[in-house]
Amino acid sequence: MRQHTFHVVCHDCPTEHLSDTERDAARLAADHENAAGHDVAVGRVD
Ligand SMILES: [Zn+2]
Repeated sequence: MRQHTFHVVCHDCPTEHLSDTERDAARLAADHENAAGHDVAVGRVD
């Protein structure tokens, strides 16, 4: 099973996170969207 890194990046400010799990990345994205009202994208980095 391959390990992936998930990249969380905000389109509306310089916020970025890297996460080892999709679930954690989705949580970080949702937290920022809820806190800041920004548009946050999650991408997988191979
Ligand atoms: Zn933001």
